[in-house]
Amino acid sequence: MNQKIIRRLIAVLLALSLLCGCASAVQAIVIPQNVKNVILLIGDGMGENSLEWTKQAKGVSLFVDTLPYQGYSKTDSLSGLTDSAAGATALSCGLRAFNSNLCECAASVYDRGVTFFTYLNVSEVAKSLGKRAGVVTSDLNTGATPAGFSAHTFRRSEDQEITDQQLAGDLDLIWAGASGLVTAERCAETGWQYADSLETLQTLPNGTRSFAALSGKIYYTDGAQGDAPLSTLTSLAIEQLDNDAGFFLMVEGAHIDKNSHSNDAEGMMRAVLEFDKAIENAVEFAKRDGNTIVIVTADHETGGITRDEATGEFAYTCGDHTRTDVPLRLFGSDALVKDGKHVKNTAVGRFIAKQLGYTERFPDAQFNFGFLGELIDALVQHAKEQTAVAA
Ligand SMILES: [Zn+2]
Repeated sequence: MNQKIIRRLIAVLLALSLLCGCASAVQAIVIPQNVKNVILLIGDGMGENSLEWTKQAKGVSLFVDTLPYQGYSKTDSLSGLTDSAAGATALSCGLRAFNSNLCECAASVYDRGVTFFTYLNVSEVAKSLGKRAGVVTSDLNTGATPAGFSAHTFRRSEDQEITDQQLAGDLDLIWAGASGLVTAERCAETGWQYADSLETLQTLPNGTRSFAALSGKIYYTDGAQGDAPLSTLTSLAIEQLDNDAGFFLMVEGAHIDKNSHSNDAEGMMRAVLEFDKAIENAVEFAKRDGNTIVIVTADHETGGITRDEATGEFAYTCGDHTRTDVPLRLFGSDALVKDGKHVKNTAVGRFIAKQLGYTERFPDAQFNFGFLGELIDALVQHAKEQTAVAA
């Protein structure tokens, strides 16, 4: 075994020992339970200054500022600075993971996955309680955030595997932009109603299991034919999911992040405004319903947006994610945050599971006893490839 492989092995075993520690350190959070519905809205890449800049530049107030309980979420993953996959995993499973992991804790060894733990997520919790569960996003169905509530993979880029798991899974609704992987045929085979437009979604009876691959604009709309505004999708998804047993819904505004990566402030603000309307629609339902908690947060900040104290001007300072704590705001319960409190992102998933009335172990990390086999496999395969290259 060469030095590099040995160093790799030590790193993997070290990571494993760390993980054993983190998985067993399950803290009980005592809060009121058994709310009927939970709606979680994730503004991907949405920092406090994404909101402040939008308000200043557009001369508007935002609905999200009216939410009664306001605090912050700390976003780090096991890799340090998080990506959206580990961010979604923390929010949906209540446990940290390495970047690129979706609802599991795994390492990539010579590009092969070695999975240490498989995590239970809040969509699965909702389904196990007889509730409905769904995800709506302005991203593709394979995006890291929706996938973090509907699939388990060691790597976020496994688009086909993620789609296969979503189709084979038991969620009630997955609405996203068209990735090309979700087709009418595949939906028919797997028991989903396929939809490629807002118009089709509007005709579906309550409770239809529907998979939408939308080709129109989602994150913002100029009202063109074929557009499917995120705020409209949010109201419609709530109508679809609403039932006596309750539901869990995750809504993602993905383009706050996407536009901030390219430092497109105008695009970021349009995404914030549409996401804010989605929040308003969710809270309006919660007010009417009286038994629904709405949680608004982000997986991380993107763009390092800062405000110049002297001029009051906002500006991007980078094109990547940052470690800045992000807004965490609630309607319906003050048990998670209030008065500007900062909590770990993992507290959100734990809070949701409790609120839904889940009394089993959560967070729950199933140890993968086959990890050594996967590790040896990866090393052997790599050695074979190296030998082939050398020959
Ligand atoms: Zn990003």
